Amino acid sequence: PASPAAGANSAAERDVAHVLHPYTDHKAHRAKGPLIITGGKGVRVTDQNGREYIETVAGLWCAALGFNNERLVQAAADQMRKLPFYHAFTGRSHLPLIELAEMLVERAPVPMSKAFFANSGSEANDTALKMVWYMNNALGRPQKKKVISRIGGYHGVTIASASLTGLPVNHKLFDLPIAGILHTSRPHHYHHALPGESEEDFATRLASELEAMIVAEGPDTVAAFFAEPIMGAGGVIVPPATYFEKIQAVLRKYDVLLVADEVICGFGRTGNYWGSQTMGMQPDILTCAKALSSSYLPISAVLVNERVYEAMSEGASQIGTWGHGYTYSGHPVAAAVAVETLKIYDEMDIAAHAAEVGAVMQKRLRERVASHPLVGEVRGVGLIGAVELVEDKAEHRNFDPARKIAPRLVGIAENHGLILRALPNDSIAFSPPQIITAAEVEEMVERFGHALDDLS
Ligand code: PLP
Repeated sequence: PASPAAGANSAAERDVAHVLHPYTDHKAHRAKGPLIITGGKGVRVTDQNGREYIETVAGLWCAALGFNNERLVQAAADQMRKLPFYHAFTGRSHLPLIELAEMLVERAPVPMSKAFFANSGSEANDTALKMVWYMNNALGRPQKKKVISRIGGYHGVTIASASLTGLPVNHKLFDLPIAGILHTSRPHHYHHALPGESEEDFATRLASELEAMIVAEGPDTVAAFFAEPIMGAGGVIVPPATYFEKIQAVLRKYDVLLVADEVICGFGRTGNYWGSQTMGMQPDILTCAKALSSSYLPISAVLVNERVYEAMSEGASQIGTWGHGYTYSGHPVAAAVAVETLKIYDEMDIAAHAAEVGAVMQKRLRERVASHPLVGEVRGVGLIGAVELVEDKAEHRNFDPARKIAPRLVGIAENHGLILRALPNDSIAFSPPQIITAAEVEEMVERFGHALDDLS
């Protein structure tokens, strides 16, 4: 990356002087400076010095159609000329909003009734939580409000969605989580199974733990369970076999709603259109964002089933209007881009493509790096995966975080033309744009293998 010392008034210096970056160690950033990306094509991006990198995480798991899709540009320009803004408050509407809602409901993994729009994954999850609370107030059971999510889950960074998130970095220095949000165990067999415990037995134990938590809290106080089909930012944790089947049996028993956070897993990522299909989830509420517009513009959605909608619409007469919505809920330009995105997904059969190329990615990652002395586990499904680095392969023991092993690998990989993303437990994520070809997967894995060789 360009160092801030690159010259007075260089873009790097101006960045360090004025930009407060998300998720950044500010002090380290002052010394190192930014990596400034100026363009992109397909699965690759280019920095200001003209160096090209394969984007192994599609930016932030989101640029599904890569970095130069002209149809999305055209859809945005056309809509800006027709109607650059209108809102959806108090029953106002516009055509891109209607078309997008219709398309999402038609494509939902289980029968869904309505779509609500927001601008980010965090807002979608905040909205889902407020829907659950509003619904239970409307149903005359105001005590049923607690929500359970999972250690290692990632649901965003607003006060409520950061509380749902189960990562220390989002809690510790922010005095979170808020009251009424509880966390159950991370379903990672590699680290948390007992010696000799099968995936199925591990899943049974996790479901029993959830049940014990609901019973201890009081089932009439627990409203919903939030889960990503596959945990993304928490480490790409694929749950053990039978996990969601057993978890959902517990939820049904105590009338606890399931909210599927499809912000990463939606739109083909796991080899099916939805992660819920891959993992056998039947959610009552589904949140999605990121690939919904291939991230060309910010937009997210919350889908609700008829039961939730019924409670919310009956509620209006009993407890007052649904007083929630964003100025940009269903922004016409973002919605038009999302509509075009979903049309492209249909034309390319994004789920089938991700399944086919994802199988190549899973196989090649295992062949190339699983036996590497620093690699503990290679995991994933479809076009989402992770490679976890360990100090002790037999004990499944990670490195001391002070050694910053994964950040070092991220730095080395840049020299091999690869942008990597390090997750907790020294796991390196793989979530390339869904348009990636088998040949590009080979190239990505090969470059990663060389970076790993350089690290050791
Ligand atoms: N949910 C999941 C599963 C995510 O991965 C993310 C972001 O990475 C979010 C929610 C939050 O989305 P946003 O950053 O758009 O608020």
